[in-house]
Amino acid sequence: MTDVVVVGGGIGGLAAAVCCARRGLAVRVLEQARAYGEVGAGIQLAPNATRVLHRLGLLDRLRDVGVRPRRLVLSDAVTGAELTHLPLDDLTARYGGPYVVLHRSDLLDALLDAARAAGVALETDARVESVVDTGAGVSARTADGREFAGGVLLAADGLHSRVRPLLCADEPVASGYVAYRGAVPLDAVAHRSDLADVVVFVGPGRHFVQYPLRAGELYNQVAVFRSPAFARGEPDWGGPDELDAAFAGSCDHVLGAVAAVRRDLRWPMADREPVDTWVGGRVALLGDAAHPMLQYLAQGACQAIEDADAVAAALAEEPPDAALRAYQARRAPRAAFVQTTARRWGELWHLDGPAAAARDAALRARAPDDHTWVAPLYG
Ligand SMILES: Cc1cc2nc3c(=O)[nH]c(=O)nc-3n(C[C@H](O)[C@H](O)[C@H](O)COP(=O)(O)OP(=O)(O)OC[C@H]3O[C@@H](n4cnc5c(N)ncnc54)[C@H](O)[C@@H]3O)c2cc1C
Repeated sequence: MTDVVVVGGGIGGLAAAVCCARRGLAVRVLEQARAYGEVGAGIQLAPNATRVLHRLGLLDRLRDVGVRPRRLVLSDAVTGAELTHLPLDDLTARYGGPYVVLHRSDLLDALLDAARAAGVALETDARVESVVDTGAGVSARTADGREFAGGVLLAADGLHSRVRPLLCADEPVASGYVAYRGAVPLDAVAHRSDLADVVVFVGPGRHFVQYPLRAGELYNQVAVFRSPAFARGEPDWGGPDELDAAFAGSCDHVLGAVAAVRRDLRWPMADREPVDTWVGGRVALLGDAAHPMLQYLAQGACQAIEDADAVAAALAEEPPDAALRAYQARRAPRAAFVQTTARRWGELWHLDGPAAAARDAALRARAPDDHTWVAPLYG
């Protein structure tokens, strides 16, 4: 008998599967895609996630295929000047885990290998269409008519979760911002920042992120901007023409780097209002299905990994219904804090005029080792 059915085999679902299996639970993951995989872009993992990955024994592998940056830097997209930075080399001492940036597929592969080694059953082509909570267990039915029963169901099926409507009636909130991103060979980007840094260039209605991946072989770039077409209510928004227009007026470094960003893949950015109804009976939400957030704090996957650790610990200690309630009580307030802080952080990055000047003055006055902003996230 399966103890835990996980819907969705992204970072959140696989992390949950590994954490639960390591605690002796029988786990089955149902993934709708033909194969497990991630997009060709980078991901930043902060100490709140690397602590968990360290306990799972995965951190050494991730450090080998990733990069440990020296600093997080905020710079001005218009002038190119540095506004402030956070040294990253003492994070293990402060928070129990390092800051690591890596290719998303390297993280997913490490989780997949760990899941296989822990005996997790990994289904593909398993698109869950309905879920029934029988009181004593759960049953998930896939599009091709298969039924998978288990003791509890963890829905890690992302922003547009199929399971979430069972627990709360809401819709994603479009931010009107769109991201273009991708990892390319290092040499393909002439306008690189210092390879020891993760750099965010902030400007009016836009920002641009750069950092190296895969021990410095690849370079990750993310260009994010507010779409005027979205604000006008047009159905087709965020195209490459708007990308170029949004970054016009940036410094030469950012202009040159944006020119090297892939134009064929874009992500309209959306989140949801925080809720505290992640759990009903034997069903619980996890990761973006529970708390989708704007990516400005680089915390969405980190929070999913925290969820995975928390739900597995609860399931190992208490009967299923009580365990899921304990998981929700422990995680929902913290995830809500990160969701709302991410929105505010984006507003701060994208300021214009006198408000932007006041922000820049405050950032310049900040001591690099001031951890006021990050301690609540990383601690
Ligand atoms: C531009 C950008 C940059 C980001 N940068 C960072 C960062 O640096 N650090 C960070 O921590 N986070 C970052 N995030 C957020 C992070 O990517 C997400 O929070 C994280 O990937 C969520 O993982 P998940 O497993 O919960 O959901 P998803 O990644 O959405 O995975 C859901 C899985 O469920 C499957 N699925 C969906 N429906 C069904 C169904 N009905 N049946 C079966 N399977 C189904 C999907 O195929 C998918 O595999 C970023 C996000 C964006 C957009």
